[in-house]
Amino acid sequence: MKTPKKPLPADLKFGTLFTDHMVSARFDVEHGWSAMEVSPYGKLALDPAASVLHYGQAIFEGMKAFSTQDGRTAIFRPERHAKRFAASAERTCMEQVPEQLFLDAVLALVRADEAYVPDAAGTSLYIRPTLIATEPFLGVRPAQQYLFFVIACPVGPYYAEGFKPVSIWVEQEYVRAAQGGLGSAKVGANYVASLYAAEQAKKAGYAQVLWTDAVEHRYIDEVGTMNVFIRLKDEVITPPIGSTTLAGVTRDSVLTLIKEFGLRVTERRITVDEVVEAHGRGQLLEIFGTGTGAVISPVGKLGFKDKTIELGKEAGELSLRLFDELQAIQRGTKADRHDWLRYLG
Ligand SMILES: *Cc1c(COP(=O)(O)O)cnc(C)c1O
Repeated sequence: MKTPKKPLPADLKFGTLFTDHMVSARFDVEHGWSAMEVSPYGKLALDPAASVLHYGQAIFEGMKAFSTQDGRTAIFRPERHAKRFAASAERTCMEQVPEQLFLDAVLALVRADEAYVPDAAGTSLYIRPTLIATEPFLGVRPAQQYLFFVIACPVGPYYAEGFKPVSIWVEQEYVRAAQGGLGSAKVGANYVASLYAAEQAKKAGYAQVLWTDAVEHRYIDEVGTMNVFIRLKDEVITPPIGSTTLAGVTRDSVLTLIKEFGLRVTERRITVDEVVEAHGRGQLLEIFGTGTGAVISPVGKLGFKDKTIELGKEAGELSLRLFDELQAIQRGTKADRHDWLRYLG
């Protein structure tokens, strides 16, 4: 059954228009998790002493629902997001949201607001599950009360002006995540840690930064808020998952697809120098980021203090192929060979 769709405003910006509902559940030590509740989208009431406001216990997820070509609605790999949400909670000493509660809440929201799942090419419903510490207590220890909520916003095509590569600043001064830090958890704190460097890069004309390791600034970690892939002549490389890289769901999907394409893909550490040298030999073919928001984000230029490397004004062949393939699976125009889609029953 096709749901009549809400039209998207022409000037829609990512993350500005929210659907009619939200889903929430509360935890406290005495009662455990409450039943989830679907309610109209609206403001939260928080005690000014709520620990999230002071010590930053806040984690989130970002995932998408799609209108498939047969008129149904499918969510992309929600179980994987539920598991990562639980891992992020553990790393930040927050109460884990039971996987079933997470999945039920996401499903309930998409069901309630299915009319907001857009169906034009490149569009989707972006879903934001969030967990915050709400206990009013100024002592420093893990909070004993939490609020879990899910909100969603329809998003227009990410590449409204075409699938074009962006310029990236190679960051060798500021740090997003250090060994042993929070880099492997999807926490708000990682984002605030990244803002200053990203703003400096923007002033210099770069869209985002390439994060290097916190000790020597030699090894490549991630690009912007995405995982990074580097294609050399006969090897595709992505840094391994560790305490300075997030286990991206798109990264995992892309690893699977690259193997399916018959290319050699390696999860290993790679230095900025190796990339520069490969470029010098004419063997650096493409660099791209992967994440739920943009899916694939090709890099066209790398900027350093003393030089720039040009990778081309058009997206690379592999970036384009991965972008098309993932979108086709998400929209149901190609077979879901890896069981990634969860259809609303
Ligand atoms: C969310 C995120 C990613 C991408 O993960 P996906 O599951 O592919 O969306 C990569 N790096 C960071 C730091 C992130 O927060």
